[in-house]
Amino acid sequence: MSVEEDVMRIQKKLNKMTSEDGSGQEQALDLLKELQTLNINLEVLTKTRIGMTVNALRKSSKDDEVISLSKTLIKNWKKFLSGLNSNSEKSSSTSKPKKEKEDKASREDKDREREKNLPKQFPANSNTTDSVRLKCREMLAGAIKTDSKPEDFEGCASAEELAEELEEAIFSEFKNTDMRYKNRVRSRIANLKDIKNPTLRTHFRIGAITAGRLAVMTAEEMANDEVKQLREKFLKESINDAQLATAQGTKTDMLKCGKCKKRNCTYNQLQTRSSDEPMTTFVLCNECGNRWKFC
Ligand SMILES: [Zn+2]
Repeated sequence: MSVEEDVMRIQKKLNKMTSEDGSGQEQALDLLKELQTLNINLEVLTKTRIGMTVNALRKSSKDDEVISLSKTLIKNWKKFLSGLNSNSEKSSSTSKPKKEKEDKASREDKDREREKNLPKQFPANSNTTDSVRLKCREMLAGAIKTDSKPEDFEGCASAEELAEELEEAIFSEFKNTDMRYKNRVRSRIANLKDIKNPTLRTHFRIGAITAGRLAVMTAEEMANDEVKQLREKFLKESINDAQLATAQGTKTDMLKCGKCKKRNCTYNQLQTRSSDEPMTTFVLCNECGNRWKFC
């Protein structure tokens, strides 16, 4: 059996476990350990997308060991994908450095070729092996996580998924990673990291600002205007709602469910702390029942 077939066999089992709502995952750890022993190369990674399977398992699992090993595997593959894994280079640099360089160059060409031929899957789910793009995603994810607690992401898309979507939106405009692309990424990072502007991060996390929108926003828009308008719209909706005295909450398509990625939510706003603090908004996805909250 080839490595690819092995991976696909394991993937099939893992997919089944993940879809069964986290139950029946007793075997997961063994399967992950088996994955760890396989010599998975770039081609197998790209073809099978096993990384996404393991990531889905990591999210649905409640077993610390499974989560930790999933993370390790993904981290190693990411290193491998971004060309930071020095294993192959280290062993060959002493014996035949030139040949290795050529091999690497032609491999990268092939990867680029393959990337071009990949069907566009949007949102997220987008694979790239370009080290600049992966690095940008990593930095964007870090910026999205600024000043946040893990529970802020409960029910929402992960910082990594959001970063991937945002980077993808920026890249699709420039179609390369030149200065303009880098400047665009840099200004998003600066604004997402802005301690004084938590609303931008929150609204991006909950889907009130889409990746496509954030990708093209001006500095002024990111700094306040658009964000303020969204806030006002929420307040207005909830006031109208209060006047109608409905206990069911307000329906909206402004928010995006992190699980099913649909925009069919109902929210309620409550003053949970003292009255001068912002209200907490509780959201329910009408499609899949996912719940989350934000301030
Ligand atoms: Zn949902």
